[in-house]
Amino acid sequence: MNMDISDLAGIGPSRAKVLKDMGIDTIQDMVRYFPRDYDDRSRIKTISMLTPGTTHTICATISAEGENVVLPSKANQFKPSSTTITKLLLKDETGAIELVWFGQPYLKRNFKKNDTYLFTGRVVEYFAGGTSRLQMESPDYEKLSQDTATLSAGRIVPVYTLPKGISQKMFRKWMKAALDTATEEDNLPVSLRLDLCTRQEAIQNIHFPESDDHFHVARRRLVFEELFFMQLALLRIKGGTQPGIPIQNTDLSPFLAKLPFALTEAQQSVLVEIAQDFQKGQRMNRLIQGDVGSGKTVVAAAAAYMIMSDSAGDTGKKTECVKRYQVAIMAPTEVLARQHFKHFSNYLPDFNTVLLTGSLSAKEKRAAYASIKEGHAQMIVGTHALIQQGVIFNNLALVITDEQHRFGVKQRGALSDKGTYPHTMIMTATPIPRTLGLILYGDMDISIINALPPGRQVIKTYCVNSRYRSRLVAFMAKQVQEKRQVYVICPAIDESDTGMASVTAYAAKLQEALPDIPIACLHGRLKNKEEVMTAFGNNEYSIIVSTTVIEVGVDVPNATLIVIENAERFGLSQLHQLRGRVGRGIHQSYCVLVTDSKAEHTQKRMKAMESTTDGFVLSELDLQLRGPGDFFGVQQHGLPGFIIANLYSDMDILKAAQKAATTVNEATGKLDITEEEYQNMHNVLKEILGEMITM
Ligand code: ADP
Ligand code: MG
Repeated sequence: MNMDISDLAGIGPSRAKVLKDMGIDTIQDMVRYFPRDYDDRSRIKTISMLTPGTTHTICATISAEGENVVLPSKANQFKPSSTTITKLLLKDETGAIELVWFGQPYLKRNFKKNDTYLFTGRVVEYFAGGTSRLQMESPDYEKLSQDTATLSAGRIVPVYTLPKGISQKMFRKWMKAALDTATEEDNLPVSLRLDLCTRQEAIQNIHFPESDDHFHVARRRLVFEELFFMQLALLRIKGGTQPGIPIQNTDLSPFLAKLPFALTEAQQSVLVEIAQDFQKGQRMNRLIQGDVGSGKTVVAAAAAYMIMSDSAGDTGKKTECVKRYQVAIMAPTEVLARQHFKHFSNYLPDFNTVLLTGSLSAKEKRAAYASIKEGHAQMIVGTHALIQQGVIFNNLALVITDEQHRFGVKQRGALSDKGTYPHTMIMTATPIPRTLGLILYGDMDISIINALPPGRQVIKTYCVNSRYRSRLVAFMAKQVQEKRQVYVICPAIDESDTGMASVTAYAAKLQEALPDIPIACLHGRLKNKEEVMTAFGNNEYSIIVSTTVIEVGVDVPNATLIVIENAERFGLSQLHQLRGRVGRGIHQSYCVLVTDSKAEHTQKRMKAMESTTDGFVLSELDLQLRGPGDFFGVQQHGLPGFIIANLYSDMDILKAAQKAATTVNEATGKLDITEEEYQNMHNVLKEILGEMITM
């Protein structure tokens, strides 16, 4: 398996280089380069069955030599050979057909009389001399022989993603040679192999399936393996429970007494889970999910309170430097960090709260560093500045990361590394469907804040078609008359021939219809976006026509209406995020989705938007309707790139793999397994864990 690819027959240095550029260095890399698609050429037709306009496979014996016809070349033709047409006349018992190739005169010599070939190519109708004949253009061909299987014709044929200069046909030959050399050992424990084919069979059949059934059996095995190992790796990361700092006193009453509001039930139950973690003496590793506005900040502050007020952190010796527990919270932006600093200072008046961001002056930074190092600073709020080398904590016991999907795994880890197994807590507002969550955060316990604080307005949502536009404009005018503000979202910036609403054209027309109302445009190409947004925030503009640039982090409580044009262009999660721009104040708010699309999946999305404002329900639906590849923001979550598993359609295999991983994990426990049957599994796992940790 470790044999260098250049040692394979037919692969010289220059081809080896192309393969190496594709990431294929060894036989093992080669056989793990899976097809992107398949072409079913297994149905062989007789000539009389051929119909023009489709690709067919025929099997025929050469009865007459081919001929090369040289067309008169143009004066400035640089490639004279491109005018050569090679023709081959084929007959079977049902009829005759002409095969043609362009610009490959050497082909003529390939076809020997009385040899039998499979040809696969597109059949076209060809008019000459008043009659029509059928022709097959540039077919793939393969000689049939008794003792070798065919690779490119007369079977289900693999199609690979290949760079220029390597043909499918060539690559299939190399792949066959690699497969003949390769021996894949089984890496699953014996107990899991029962209803799966062997790895060796799976690899053979994923490239050259003998039939549809063989393909499905092979794929099932490989998908199972992929998901099983991912799950097992996540369990290992999670299950490698480290000792945590035990926190005995989790009484929150003094903290709650100072809050201006009562916690919601959802907030309370999450805090109960957190308190249980703290008392267990194991390190907490918890993800807190809650829709925008569900009140995650105060939950974080309460958790910080439990840690900081625990007396075990204080050695009591006045001669030593202070050893009380510290808490750090990292936010993705300066604005958010400052906002948190303000809130934490209010929520936790008895503790010394310190801000550390990139924009502090050198002097301020030095002061913050010193205070963090000596332990005077107990609650530290900041941005990436927290993970700088100069920052040394005195006794870090809890690390909170806000909006974690914006941070990489490494950055998260970097902050934890500044303490000795501090408890960790991650907060995210992006609703993630449960199944995806299991994969993205399989290493964490998950808590969900599933309700908003009382008194929030439900945003009334309607879906209309473009015939309602004049009424819609009147509705906008009415909102403005009541001193409220309006967002209009268009998918495009400029007028284009795609027929989509564009920001510039829409704004111009709207201004014509409502000449007295100040209207602004906003899109990614504008230089002064911030200024426009600030002006809108100050109600200098009543209506803002924008692309989706306003999606994240804009907070204008006076805006009560959002109109989304060409709503069919947006996924559910994105529509939900957009809708979240309104309903932030005390006034009744509205969301109007405009679409003329009658497509079933569009209608389903619109109905879903009208019927619920629950981000989790919508994200589950979005996953079902669009599949995880399109799922909003998946890239940002760092979803591991699965090679063949499809997280939505392979849900049943995912469940089986999760179950198997749990069983195996319990059975095998620690990492240093010596039983032979687990050796290969262990090696694969080590590789994956290595990759995940350096990710
Ligand atoms: P997010 O979960 O989006 O981070 P925040 O923590 O910023 O939400 O809270 C949003 C708003 O809700 C804040 O103004 C906060 O003071 C308020 N809030 C949080 N919890 C409650 C509650 N239990 N009752 C009333 N208001 C609350
Ligand atoms: Mg927040």
